[in-house]
Amino acid sequence: MVRDNLKLFLNSIPKEVTLVAVSKTKPVELIQQAYDAGQRVFGENKAQDLAAKYPLLPNDINWHFIGHLQRNKIKYIAPFVHCIHGIDSLRLLKEVNKLATKHNRIIKCLLQFYIAKEETKFGLSYEEATAILEDSSFPELTHIHISGVMGMASYTDDETQVLNEFKQLSDYFHRLKSKYFCDDEQFKEISMGMSGDYKLAISAGSTMIRIGTSIFGSRNY
Ligand SMILES: *Cc1c(COP(=O)(O)O)cnc(C)c1O
Repeated sequence: MVRDNLKLFLNSIPKEVTLVAVSKTKPVELIQQAYDAGQRVFGENKAQDLAAKYPLLPNDINWHFIGHLQRNKIKYIAPFVHCIHGIDSLRLLKEVNKLATKHNRIIKCLLQFYIAKEETKFGLSYEEATAILEDSSFPELTHIHISGVMGMASYTDDETQVLNEFKQLSDYFHRLKSKYFCDDEQFKEISMGMSGDYKLAISAGSTMIRIGTSIFGSRNY
């Protein structure tokens, strides 16, 4: 099942787009099936769940944290997490840097932007993001690397709106790239697109899609 879903899915997206297989709420057996089919990048949105699964699965998995991260939960994932998608404040970034330093690692981080027309979605405005990058303490954060941006579109059937929100994020990425990261080849990711809207996201320039339901089936909470 998982294997077939994965194969079908990978055939339907461009090779340059990274697939983050979102395994939240799913048992390690299903994650192992996806791993055995060749998948190496997985996403979880609860720090403790991720910390519990990590030791039970192969250690060459690239674990991405995709949810809202509380500062007091970073410790659970700092020893091994590859990339954190939900950076929405300087305080959070500093704390990630502190724990990454403690573990002698560099953790990739994506700045999460608020692009949806919904009250519930977390994220930065463009001005808030530039304030982080221009803060006098930012150059001291040597154990995080800002690798790009992340965002979630509104949950709506209005494809024009969703596409416009993704284009907005793409535009933020290119503005930040030219202003702060033009010499930084590692600043390259636009993480956008989920099972319901990944095609629109890819058409707007996504480099990284986060797919749960289409690979692992629907979730029972
Ligand atoms: C759950 C989740 C996804 C995956 O959603 P699906 O609709 O199951 O593909 C992607 N991104 C984030 C941030 C999520 O929390």
